[in-house]
Amino acid sequence: MPADLSCPACQSDATQKLSLVFENGMSDVNTTSRSVGVGIGRGGLAVGGGKTKTQGTSQTVASQKAAPPAKKPYLKPLLYIFLAMVVAGLFLTGPVLGPVVSLVWLGASIAYIIAARKHNSEVWPQLYAQWDRSFVCNRCSHTFQA
Ligand SMILES: [Zn+2]
Repeated sequence: MPADLSCPACQSDATQKLSLVFENGMSDVNTTSRSVGVGIGRGGLAVGGGKTKTQGTSQTVASQKAAPPAKKPYLKPLLYIFLAMVVAGLFLTGPVLGPVVSLVWLGASIAYIIAARKHNSEVWPQLYAQWDRSFVCNRCSHTFQA
């Protein structure tokens, strides 16, 4: 292990790349469990079988903590702005306030899209690159960049 990958806080060389912690903590769950039941009724012996399939991804806590920075979403915040304006529209009605609510909604939505686009194209790549260079110390859990 190269010297520059040792932990700057405790000098331990038991460090691990953050992205590897994240990937190793993800595991695909694809199990099939079988259950067989035997019942004795009036007609004789009856055998019933059941099959349960579990599919998905399980993630450890360490992996969740080591997750890469997320991009700003569009749909949910815009939906919240829309809902807030619908609620505001219930109270603020009339020839003056009605159009004002629509204008504020339009302005807030556009402002959010511009801010999110700026974040995703300018800030997020830096955060992601920073995350990709990050190491975590297995001894003192100090996170640092190589
Ligand atoms: Zn350390």
